[in-house]
Amino acid sequence: MLHGQFLDAQPYGSGHINDTFVARFDQSGAPVRYIFQKINQNIFKDVAALMDNIERVTSHASRRAKEKGADASRRALTLVPTRDGRSHLNAAGGHAWRCYLFIENARTYDIVETPSHAREAARAFGTFQGLLNDLPGGRLRETIPDFHNTRKRFENFQRALAADAHNRAANARDEIDFALKSESMVDVLLNLQKSGAIPERITHNDTKINNVMLDDATHEGICVIDLDTVMPGLALYDFGDMVRSATNSGAEDERDLSKISMRMPFYEGLVSGYLSAAGSFLNEAERAHLAFSGKLITFEIGLRFLTDYLEGDVYFKTKRPGHNLDRCRTQFALARSIDSQQSAMETITTRIANKETSQ
Ligand code: ATP
Ligand code: MG
Ligand code: MG
Repeated sequence: MLHGQFLDAQPYGSGHINDTFVARFDQSGAPVRYIFQKINQNIFKDVAALMDNIERVTSHASRRAKEKGADASRRALTLVPTRDGRSHLNAAGGHAWRCYLFIENARTYDIVETPSHAREAARAFGTFQGLLNDLPGGRLRETIPDFHNTRKRFENFQRALAADAHNRAANARDEIDFALKSESMVDVLLNLQKSGAIPERITHNDTKINNVMLDDATHEGICVIDLDTVMPGLALYDFGDMVRSATNSGAEDERDLSKISMRMPFYEGLVSGYLSAAGSFLNEAERAHLAFSGKLITFEIGLRFLTDYLEGDVYFKTKRPGHNLDRCRTQFALARSIDSQQSAMETITTRIANKETSQ
């Protein structure tokens, strides 16, 4: 429980979803910081289910950290319960708030600056998945059903295209053709899951660099944060989204597509970090699809931007006309770049995986 005298509070960080604040409390003469978050209930409708997932995941992660003799308050998010022992507070105005211990002497980065950043972030996400392999208490709640169901995403796109409610399809001919031609990709992981070749695991589902805390002194990835989307999923969805967000040489909405490519040294960093933590539990089919997962998730996000463009920009916030189409073009350019380098990526993956197992 929180104690001490409240000193001050201010907005904190560069998250886009929740409202995040840092607050200081005087505890026996020393100021101690906490993170307070107002949960975005436009996006997360079932706060109780979401907080139930987070409570289970964070307490399991700290238990595991303690067993290893690590400082659990730096190796996992720690929820600070309300005075009546709940994970969050239903406050006035219908707002839901939660509080975490502030992780000191570490920070998040908004941009992956070096391949070693990529390696540390991927190691942290791999460690996180590994920690949760034996989470007790049954399946987590699926707070966003079909989040990475690429077949459903494809059907949504087909519906938006057939309706063409804003007469925009004519502006996106090339992107629509690319999407239609890529259909065979969408069932690959779903079929592997259906056949039992790859297992459902617990996944983070927002594996961006700014959701990992890197230690200020060692730059080691110490802890994964932002657990709103933790739920059942495929490990490859998390890895694929790391490839999408960490290897791109340009911004997510870059209009000059000549600036967009998959940067191999960053991919190499991701694979080596991820396999150093997850190599021990991933099966062969998962390992064989690491490079492919990057292409699939990049395509999937591009498809979502395209769908939203066709539907009149109803989901993603846009800053200019055609913003979603620009984002779609960037993602599709990256998917093409991955496709053209896929066999080289697979060679690198195999080399790193073999090194891992021989160690
Ligand atoms: P996103 O846009 O990635 O979904 P969000 O709005 O869900 O972000 P968080 O990622 O949870 O918000 O938090 C925003 C930022 O606040 C983080 O990037 C991090 O810099 C900082 N932060 C969050 N939790 C902690 C913590 N426990 N200790 C220190 N800093 C934190
Ligand atoms: Mg975040
Ligand atoms: Mg978030």
